[in-house]
Amino acid sequence: MKIAELFGKGRPVFSCEVFPPKKDTPIDSIYETLDGLKDIRPDFISVTYGAGGSSNVNHSTQEIASIIKNKYHIPAMAHLTCVACTKGEATEVLAGLKANGVENVLALRGDRSPDYPPKTDFLHASDLVSFIHRRGDFGVSAACYPEGHPESPDLVSDIRHLKEKVDAGAQHLVSQLFFDNDDFLRFVERCRIAGINVPIEAGIMPVLKKSSIERMVSMCGASLPRKLTRILAKYGDHPEAMREAGLAYAIDQITDLMAAGVDGIHLYTMNNPEVAKYISSSISTLRTL
Ligand code: FAD
Repeated sequence: MKIAELFGKGRPVFSCEVFPPKKDTPIDSIYETLDGLKDIRPDFISVTYGAGGSSNVNHSTQEIASIIKNKYHIPAMAHLTCVACTKGEATEVLAGLKANGVENVLALRGDRSPDYPPKTDFLHASDLVSFIHRRGDFGVSAACYPEGHPESPDLVSDIRHLKEKVDAGAQHLVSQLFFDNDDFLRFVERCRIAGINVPIEAGIMPVLKKSSIERMVSMCGASLPRKLTRILAKYGDHPEAMREAGLAYAIDQITDLMAAGVDGIHLYTMNNPEVAKYISSSISTLRTL
């Protein structure tokens, strides 16, 4: 099933993201995560591609996407990045995915890592989107940034480049995490005005620890609304309270987005099925409307 076919069925799509286990953890540990996620019946699960492109990690991206598709019978989307792949390597990865029945790829430029010099066959995600789309075998998705990509001089040029990805063949977009729903809703409106008419899923990251929110914000530049800074100030040093408040915040964000009629919610699970289950059970009826 191609991801774009999941939309337009009168209810929001609900999907999850997982990452391959770290190098020193056996790949089997992913089963615990997927066993938990299967109970919440996500419409699809995406699997990240290691930053910079360590081959060890990225073989597991293919392997895990294949497990999701063939063992759990859930549509899978494998991430793939420009910085990690030459054209030859991308061809090889795509052949492996196709052989395993994985039909969807999230085409990204990827973040540069000091440990791995970037490959240069594909400079922008739009080049990779076009390369995959031309093969004709895959549903192609791409990333988008409600507050603008951190390297972008302004939102206008960022949306212009996003349109290039869609024109190159991206049929579905997944957003960077954000904490202020108005940022996302305004962004979707701007995309529609710019003629970007593919489904746009809202990326939601539940924040359960003060340290992880600080790390995320410094990495991706998401801004913190006053409501969240108040929560951090009051509960940030109390782990249990912070966890409760972070879950409540994520559920509130999703409820509001669903009420606003978004195309879908993409939950960054951080491989924590208990958190995903808690959130999913809190919105189980909303998912049907
Ligand atoms: P692009 O679309 O190429 O955009 C990057 C920047 O270049 C933007 O500022 C854009 O405006 C600009 N740009 C685009 N085209 C042009 C052009 N023709 N001329 C000039 N400027 C241009 N990283 C990983 O390593 N692995 C993952 O699995 C992964 N998964 C992700 C999933 C999601 C949903 C998101 C939102 C991000 C993910 N990332 C991942 C991070 C992502 O790779 C980085 O954010 C990266 O910096 C940009 O990737 P992109 O695909 O958006 O790039």
